[in-house]
Amino acid sequence: MIVGVLGDGQLARMLALAGHPLGLQFIVLSPVPNSCAASVAEQICARFDDEAALRLIAQRADVVTWEFENVPARAVQYLSQHVPVLPPPAALAASQDRLSEKRLFRDLDIPTAAFAPVESLTDLETAAATIGWPAVLKMRMHGYDGKGQATLRRSEDLRPAWAALGGVPAIVEALVPFEREVSVIAVRARNGDMAFYPLVTNTHRDGILRVSISGQNDPLQAQANEYARRLLERLDYVGILALELFAVQGELLANEFAPRVHNSGHWTIEGAETSQFENHLRAILGFPLGSTAAIGHSAMVNLIGDVPDPGQMLSVPGVHLHLYGKERRPGRKLGHVTLREMGQPGLHASLQRLLALLPSAEAT
Ligand code: AMP
Repeated sequence: MIVGVLGDGQLARMLALAGHPLGLQFIVLSPVPNSCAASVAEQICARFDDEAALRLIAQRADVVTWEFENVPARAVQYLSQHVPVLPPPAALAASQDRLSEKRLFRDLDIPTAAFAPVESLTDLETAAATIGWPAVLKMRMHGYDGKGQATLRRSEDLRPAWAALGGVPAIVEALVPFEREVSVIAVRARNGDMAFYPLVTNTHRDGILRVSISGQNDPLQAQANEYARRLLERLDYVGILALELFAVQGELLANEFAPRVHNSGHWTIEGAETSQFENHLRAILGFPLGSTAAIGHSAMVNLIGDVPDPGQMLSVPGVHLHLYGKERRPGRKLGHVTLREMGQPGLHASLQRLLALLPSAEAT
């Protein structure tokens, strides 16, 4: 069977790597030649709205999925007329617009920070007055990894923040004084079966994920699963979905969801019975889901902007190194390391050793 993937980054690469033992082949579509998925998948190098390229994928692939949210809706619409496209395109549309995403949460009784849509500087002034300080202004579309966002601490911040975002449709939301950020990676099969991975605690800096630590028996697991379940069922979802949440005073507030495999689920490759990548493929191909149970204790560290000496990293106990074959560039995700240990003290010791190898600006 052939799986078509829109996008050619590390997520497409890890999907292909997970699919090879199952005998699957992959075609990735991307406008950039020699992408990081190209060494493990056939690449069609074309724009996402190139109709001939989309037709080719539709003819050859048994199912099409994506690895990033900002796939043009028209491409997905075109493909879905010719080949099964999963997760359902409506889930992609809901996640592409922060306002529709937040409204969906509200509709499902999933708590969020207070938010309001903003179309003009006047709207922003009114919304900030209602929501209070501090707040955060976010572009509705095309924002990721903290890009297209500005923190608002006082009324003097409003005009420059609005100008910095370029006056595009936005939302403003209360800045949550969270104790920690968590995510739940959930999966739903074509027959409606669902499974949830252990809750992950995430550390971000400058809006980019740095470290994820997977928990066991997290007191917030049941609540997170319940919110993810509501989303999966409402969207008639098939595949992996990641729901990112803020934990504050023992409660969860939803921040956003990603209708795809997710960086905070990379630890599952070695740290769970079935990885998020394999379970995404199982789901979209109509196979039974695999167990999401953890094997031991795991942490994942992103390698951002630079890669420490591989030999030194590999000398850390419990280490599993993944390099994506990308050129070094500041702020770019070049790889990740998963640490898996049978006991928590061992995990903690390995994590400290690994973090000490990162450039000091990266050590969290
Ligand atoms: P996002 O692009 O919405 O995932 O935001 C990136 C990161 O910015 C989040 O992971 C948080 O660390 C931070 N952030 C975003 N929105 C808020 C908020 N309303 N309150 C506090 N922190 C936030």
